[in-house]
Amino acid sequence: MIIVLKPEATKEQRILLIAALEEKYNVTVNTWVGVGSTVLGLIGDTTQVDEDWVSAQEIVDSIKRVQEPYKKANRKFHPGNTVIELPGGQRIGDGELCIMAGPCSVESEEQINYVAKRVKAAGASFLRGGAFKPRTSPYSFQGLKDEGLDLLKGARKETGLPIVTEIMSAAHIEMFGSVDIIQVGARNMQNFELLRQLGKTDKPILLKRGLSSTIEEWIMSAEYIMAGGNDRVILCERGIRTYETATRNTLDLSAVPIVKKLTHLPVIVDPSHATGKSWLVEQMSLAAVAAGADGLMIEVHNDPKHALSDGAQSLTPDQFDRVAAKAFALKKAYDEIEKKIL
Ligand code: PEP
Ligand code: MN
Repeated sequence: MIIVLKPEATKEQRILLIAALEEKYNVTVNTWVGVGSTVLGLIGDTTQVDEDWVSAQEIVDSIKRVQEPYKKANRKFHPGNTVIELPGGQRIGDGELCIMAGPCSVESEEQINYVAKRVKAAGASFLRGGAFKPRTSPYSFQGLKDEGLDLLKGARKETGLPIVTEIMSAAHIEMFGSVDIIQVGARNMQNFELLRQLGKTDKPILLKRGLSSTIEEWIMSAEYIMAGGNDRVILCERGIRTYETATRNTLDLSAVPIVKKLTHLPVIVDPSHATGKSWLVEQMSLAAVAAGADGLMIEVHNDPKHALSDGAQSLTPDQFDRVAAKAFALKKAYDEIEKKIL
């Protein structure tokens, strides 16, 4: 971190500030005294340095971070890829393509069991399905809640697929005890108390990117979970809000290689919420594979026209068969090309 001091800063004030920085944050401070201004360079772990505190000091003119504000998620301190492994042997981030699929909302036993069987047959290794739904309108279907969780567990028993489902409140953590991967939805990406509590669990957490979040804010939310002791975070790009109205959100595919460069965490892409349109899911899934995603999360419904939520972006099981087959084939071809050309 670089701190530029105001030209009028006296030597005594500078010495006091340096002593405070060294004591407060356990960093070493190098000083360059120039003609017009003086610059301090902080060396050491600056992730804990409170930028607001520094900026509020009378003699500070400006500050600039040269190191990212996150440490646990940072690839610089953890060069190898994190691979999330489940007790059933499923792995995310190990170089294979992992597909999570299922309905937006769990609606009934028949529905979830049927979809679970179909997505499994197509190669999905996780079943997704919302039991607690974050809906924009309080009058829309809010999910089957604890009954939905029970239905997901039933479908897991039927198919052996581990389940991924969204949590909306820290008060529900105990209730989610036997969920395999807990999803934090876009709307809760900055629910810091929820993130903090999830950091105390040993569950893999699928952290979706917030509707209007920068990549750094998203990684800082992962850092919240990891700072609590839970390193098992999977990032999910699901589109961000832009001025474009042709799609539900704008899929930021460049986020995939960027986040994989900055962090060591697995990154998956959700083309369903990103586009809001089922006919775009295939192409965006393939683009995500080419962009280096570790996996895909795709909404699949037995009868999209009558879905209680997100029908327009849901694939039928037949459509999903095709998308999954193409995505696996593309991944294989891509890996072969990489091997040949390198
Ligand atoms: C979902 O996965 O069903 C969901 C609500 O996603 P998001 O948080 O990305 O909108
Ligand atoms: Mn949905």
